[in-house]
Amino acid sequence: MRIKTRFILYITAWTLTLAGLLGWLAHKQWHEYAENHHAVRDVERTILALKVFEMVSRERGPSNAMMGAPLPAPASQAAALTTAREHSDAAINALMSGLQQLDDDDDRATLVNALLQLQNDLQTGRRKVDTLIAMPVAQRPGETIDDAVTAMIAVAGRASPLATRVSGAAEQRGNTLNDLLVAARAAAELREQAGQLGSQFTRALIRQEPLTRQTVESIERIIGHIDIMRMLVNNRVARCCADNPDITGAVTQMDQQYFGDGQALVNQVLLTWRASVVPQMTTGEFAARYVPTMNPIVGLRDALLLQASKQAQAAESRSRNSLLWLGGLTAALVLLLIVPLCLFGYRLLNALTTSANIIKALAAGKLDTPVPTPVRSDEIGDVLSAIAILRDHSQARQALQIEREALIADLHEAATTDFLTGALNRRAFQSMATVTVTQTARRGGYCSVALLDLDHFKRVNDTWGHDVGDVVIRAVSERCRINLRSSDLFARYGGEEFIFLLADANEANTIEVLERIRQDIARTTLATVDGQSLHLTVSVGFAQLSPQQDTLEKLALAADRHLYDAKERGRNRVIG
Ligand code: GH3
Ligand code: MG
Ligand code: MG
Repeated sequence: MRIKTRFILYITAWTLTLAGLLGWLAHKQWHEYAENHHAVRDVERTILALKVFEMVSRERGPSNAMMGAPLPAPASQAAALTTAREHSDAAINALMSGLQQLDDDDDRATLVNALLQLQNDLQTGRRKVDTLIAMPVAQRPGETIDDAVTAMIAVAGRASPLATRVSGAAEQRGNTLNDLLVAARAAAELREQAGQLGSQFTRALIRQEPLTRQTVESIERIIGHIDIMRMLVNNRVARCCADNPDITGAVTQMDQQYFGDGQALVNQVLLTWRASVVPQMTTGEFAARYVPTMNPIVGLRDALLLQASKQAQAAESRSRNSLLWLGGLTAALVLLLIVPLCLFGYRLLNALTTSANIIKALAAGKLDTPVPTPVRSDEIGDVLSAIAILRDHSQARQALQIEREALIADLHEAATTDFLTGALNRRAFQSMATVTVTQTARRGGYCSVALLDLDHFKRVNDTWGHDVGDVVIRAVSERCRINLRSSDLFARYGGEEFIFLLADANEANTIEVLERIRQDIARTTLATVDGQSLHLTVSVGFAQLSPQQDTLEKLALAADRHLYDAKERGRNRVIG
């Protein structure tokens, strides 16, 4: 596998593994953040729900006072009722907006419906209270008062489970948060029960009559409830917040004021009734002494809710920070590891591939392959520069080699070729013809050697000059070349004399070729001077290879003798 492919696979595997790991971590972290974010909202909604619970519960105080007040009621009591009702309505509206923001459609619908039902019940309770308030005190029937009180208690009875359901989600998100919210709900419930305890005296105080048996049972049941709630609050506080001075301080306040002063007042009133004496106290006077003792319960509830809110926000902030850290880590990994690794690998492998391709091309002889100019002065730049130098050296060496080969070719030609005619020179002929004659003699084949000399050539030189003589020599050489085969050897032997070696030619073949040459030359205009055509004849002597004449020297000597004969016998003939 190529390094580049391996690198890409390696980087891809690495990136995918890292992306998977970071993705998994991000998912986990995001989930945790979302949970904590929702916990903050849940705690906020729980606070709103408990506020509704508290306000509808508190509203019973001024309601009871007004139901016990003479007609027209004192302005301060009427104002207190109006304010209490405004507070209840404001708390309900606040919770309603909080519930509208719930993500889960089902949860939202259920809780909004429950709150609307509560609002409805509250209106019913208030109408009952208002009807009684409008009557003179003496005409207010005991059952109707009980009914109005019960209706207002029923509103709180709806608020309590609503608060439980709202805080349910938040309570599932961690032990400490769970303890704080359960304790806060228990404190709210405690406040409600304490309120209900106070309300039990309303009818008897208004009508200045003994407590009914039913009321006494209710009071005992409520006191039992209050004890359970107190225990629940203490257990949870001991578990989650023993070291939180705000909360333990609020518990102490509650113990002193409600379980001290408030319950002492209740016991005192109860003892009076047990002694069959009706306490000389209006509901307003009772409420003025009893209601403030319940405030530390609300204080404790608020301290618990504040701590829950702080904890949820701290957890949200911690998980948000973790998420940001993870994001930062991812960015750092990508920027400092993956990106540089990819760039570095890409640059290195690209340079390696480029260098390998250039070197391969140079090795294949493509010396004009361009070498990229290095961009940076690093190791890659050094390699490219070195390759460029190598390429230049190879180019120079190749140029020298070509020049040398051309020179050798020139020298070879000069050494073997006659400069005037371009035919072989005497020396080249001798070396080549010797080989042919020897080989032909060895295998018993045919060949012949012939000498050709121009007749009365001196006259040409004398009449027309040496240059015309040269032209004639070249023309004769050309005629010879044309009439010979490529396997024959042909050379300028000296002056105006030519020598041939006719390969594989017996005597008849030899005479035929030589005659053809002789006649061709005789027919041909060899030069034109001053409008005059120059014609010349040639004489040829030849010798046939034979056991007696088996070397080039012997054959040439014999051919020369026959040439002499040809001249003697009148020239323009072939003799062998
Ligand atoms: P013959 O018929 O007996 O051969 O008479 P010839 O005049 O041709 O006599 P010969 O062959 O003895 O003379 C050769 C002459 O060729 C002598 C020389 O002046 C001339 N010659 C030799 N080499 C060259 C050359 O390269 N160029 C020219 N123009 N003339 C040459
Ligand atoms: Mg001659
Ligand atoms: Mg001659």
